[in-house]
Amino acid sequence: MFELISYSLDQNKVLNLEVRTKGGGAKCPDCHRISDRIHSHYSRTIQDLPMADLSVILHVCVRRFFCDTPSCYKCTFTERMPGSIESYARRTNRMLNSQREVGFVAGGEGGSKIVHKLALPTSPDTLIRLVRIAPILEKPTPKKLGIDDWAFRRGHSYGTILIDLETHRPVDLLPDRTVDTVKKWLLEHPGVEIVTRDRSPIYIEAINQGAASAIQVADRWHLLHNLVETIERTLNRRYKDLQAAFRKTIGKGTEAEKPAKKDLPVSSEQNISLTGYEKQRQQMREKRQAQFEEIHQLKQRGLSIRAISCSLRIGREKVRKNLANEQPPEYKRRRQKTILTPYWAHLEKPIKSACLLRSRSCYRHFLVHGWSILCRHNPDMNTRLI
Ligand SMILES: [Zn+2]
Repeated sequence: MFELISYSLDQNKVLNLEVRTKGGGAKCPDCHRISDRIHSHYSRTIQDLPMADLSVILHVCVRRFFCDTPSCYKCTFTERMPGSIESYARRTNRMLNSQREVGFVAGGEGGSKIVHKLALPTSPDTLIRLVRIAPILEKPTPKKLGIDDWAFRRGHSYGTILIDLETHRPVDLLPDRTVDTVKKWLLEHPGVEIVTRDRSPIYIEAINQGAASAIQVADRWHLLHNLVETIERTLNRRYKDLQAAFRKTIGKGTEAEKPAKKDLPVSSEQNISLTGYEKQRQQMREKRQAQFEEIHQLKQRGLSIRAISCSLRIGREKVRKNLANEQPPEYKRRRQKTILTPYWAHLEKPIKSACLLRSRSCYRHFLVHGWSILCRHNPDMNTRLI
């Protein structure tokens, strides 16, 4: 492809090769007609792979040709060197690939030190730039796909992550967790046979619409997580009974078998007006109340903090906190700054009014009043703010 004109070796162990292209003519990149009418010459300096331990610089004499096609908009053009040197490139493709591989492995600063030792010298910034502009290889669509959400910022914004379950590698990250986004990705990547997901109706709907023939599997982690949550809620509801049964089993008295009056379950009439989230909080409050009374009873019998801790199987610090207070500790929900924060002064009153205890009622109220920001939000969020 090149013809050697001359060469020289400088004191920095750089081999300079003066070369020129072979052949009588070149093809116009626009009209593809071959022209042999030379317009001018110019020189390009191009870095190539080293020879032995010598860096190699090519000084290529490049020709510019006239294009004689009347309809072609190019009056002149430069001959191309396809396959080895791109237009405007300062290094050959093989040199670029070598430097980029080092950049991928060693990064900018470390990679630069290595390439200087290997006679492929370049700067740390150039290595980073070569890594960043590397083409992303298209991977085949996985047959077994895992879908789950992930947090850009926990409690505020979430996206969707897609995992190839055979290689255990991420396939793609989606900017949100809506039906349309997930469905669009599935339609653009046909061939998914099995999809694992949590039990979110959003993902179920998206898979039904985007990959209807795929088998949907509720993944093990989410099943176990949901099971644990359910068991915890059940045990919290029955905390007093469980403690009584436990003490009866180990024969430490049966006083606690009879629940105190204030520990009786909340009446169904009271429960009707509570949302699921409030019921859960109510159960936790009852559990703390029962535990608080037990700790004080045991203390009155003369047990030490360590003995109470062992008896109830809770931490000593927790025992100390309960003994130091007249009332069971109340845990307040810390309100984080959200999209609703600027509107909170207007929201608090209607939300706390009796007619808006339910999230759907809140949602309808905001819809009627034209508060579009809230309507874009999950309606369940409104009740959580109470
Ligand atoms: Zn042309």
